[in-house]
Amino acid sequence: MRSIYKCVICGSYTEETAHCGVQTRLLLNGKLRSRLSHLMTYLLRHNPGAVNLSMDREGWVGIDELVNALRSRWDPKALSWLTKGACNSGGAARPKG
Ligand SMILES: [Zn+2]
Repeated sequence: MRSIYKCVICGSYTEETAHCGVQTRLLLNGKLRSRLSHLMTYLLRHNPGAVNLSMDREGWVGIDELVNALRSRWDPKALSWLTKGACNSGGAARPKG
């Protein structure tokens, strides 16, 4: 899966590394996105009412919103990889030099 980036100007989610003429911020790398996708598929398939998430018109949810929703329903320790991965992604997106 391709990585997800967020535009720092308009706030929209994209798979592109640039939006609105500036470099986007890495939100989820492909590996984490794939993992998250499986988790979401599980939720929607087995327990669609478990989390109350609001998606935008493209079907994206904010990582913070998702983590908070998941943490409200499941053991936070079981989801530590989620926030850790997101933090690592943010670090990786910082400009070099
Ligand atoms: Zn933009």
